[in-house]
Amino acid sequence: MRVGVISLLHESNTFVAAPTTLDNFRRDMLLVGDEIIPRYETAHHEVAGFIAGLREAAIEPVGIFAARALPSGVIAADAFDELVQRMLEQLAQHDQLDGLLIAPHGATVAANYPDADGYWMQAVRDAFGRDKPIMGTLDPHANLSPQMVAATDALFSYRTNPHVDQADRGREAAEMIARTLRGEICPRQAAAYPPLAINIERQCSSEFPCQQYAEWVTEARGRPGILGASLFYGFPYADVAEMGSAMLCIADDNADLATSTAHELAERMWNDRASTLGSFCSIDSAIDQALACEGPVCLLDMGDNVGAGSPADGTCIAQRLIDRQIDRAFVAICDPAAVAVATKSGAGAVLPLSIGAWQDRLHGEPLQVTCEILSLHAGRFAEAEPRHGGKTEFDMGATAIVRTQSGLTVQITSERTAPWSLRQLTHCNLAPTDFQILVAKGVNAPLAAYASVCPYFFRVDTPGVTTANLDRLQYAHRRVPMYPFEIAAGK
Ligand SMILES: [Zn+2]
Repeated sequence: MRVGVISLLHESNTFVAAPTTLDNFRRDMLLVGDEIIPRYETAHHEVAGFIAGLREAAIEPVGIFAARALPSGVIAADAFDELVQRMLEQLAQHDQLDGLLIAPHGATVAANYPDADGYWMQAVRDAFGRDKPIMGTLDPHANLSPQMVAATDALFSYRTNPHVDQADRGREAAEMIARTLRGEICPRQAAAYPPLAINIERQCSSEFPCQQYAEWVTEARGRPGILGASLFYGFPYADVAEMGSAMLCIADDNADLATSTAHELAERMWNDRASTLGSFCSIDSAIDQALACEGPVCLLDMGDNVGAGSPADGTCIAQRLIDRQIDRAFVAICDPAAVAVATKSGAGAVLPLSIGAWQDRLHGEPLQVTCEILSLHAGRFAEAEPRHGGKTEFDMGATAIVRTQSGLTVQITSERTAPWSLRQLTHCNLAPTDFQILVAKGVNAPLAAYASVCPYFFRVDTPGVTTANLDRLQYAHRRVPMYPFEIAAGK
């Protein structure tokens, strides 16, 4: 038997002004056909899990289409049309498939299709027919839609945030499709969608309350007749009708059981909604707490959360570290023009430099500093361990390490780089343990990399397109009423 493999992964932040184009995908992943399997089979990624799980079941994995781009703005209409067209053209060339394994993100927004994943999943279903199984994985940051559920037979969200179990979930989907193709089971799935936006500060799977929600889902998964159960946190930075949390259940040939179990889990989460609010720690408070701890301490820059689509050029925390003359601190900032100036001057030079806040002023003002150029790098590194996103190859572009007169070490990169690997520092000969404060532009994802060196993390309420304080965002398309917006605690 043969099962086709399709992935289209993009987390789209509708509050980012710049559109996402095909170039963004080309820079990360845009493959068709036979190129896909060799590229993915050794990664810590759900597609790697698909491949391994299918092979274990003696099913041949067939690469169809794979596209991925770092989270950013809404996908431009022409780019999305092109992606879907290429996907369907490739699918049409493989008419001898017994099933499909698909990896959407679930929070993809295209300018012409707000529920972009629901749209392409339905297009694939229409092309593939109803009689053969389509199963797959989703990021728990998916804004799950009824169309995604209707277009597929079984979906599994990653269980961890930071996402380090992507390959395991891919394998779970592969095992499910293998059992279905052997005629052992008949999966029926259903979902429930409470009008709840879980604050990003509360979305870590090993912390309260999502750890508790995960335990409920695990318990449900063990019940007779249940084949799978998934928790979705939702992605609040996509202003779409589907924005919010969800619960999905899969039952064996029993749609009613899937429906009732999903609703039961959703109701438990809804009743606990007061636990999902953020606490919004200020920059100065976070720095004060960090200085009182034995370091290194990680400050998480929530407003410039690169893994949720922000520009990676935010300066708010860096500026306060400079103002307060705090040395032994590290921050990475994307600014290709500053890298070019540093490169031209060369290592050892001392010069005035403007760093960061070059894409907009939503994430601070440019740092105006005199700094020493410590070293220059090509900016490419590999991560061997399973880290958030399952990514193994990173390319920051030309990179400069500089130190300000106040003692702040700044890694200036040419490309937006999410802080998902400590190799980001070590490959530039920076030892994370040399610093008291490490700033990471994220909320939960950096924990997978930084927990090995940082005993303490503080989530910092900074402004920006990924602000934790959702009251700062102007929504036009989400459901109304929702918690915590129109619906207050206890209502
Ligand atoms: Zn995610």
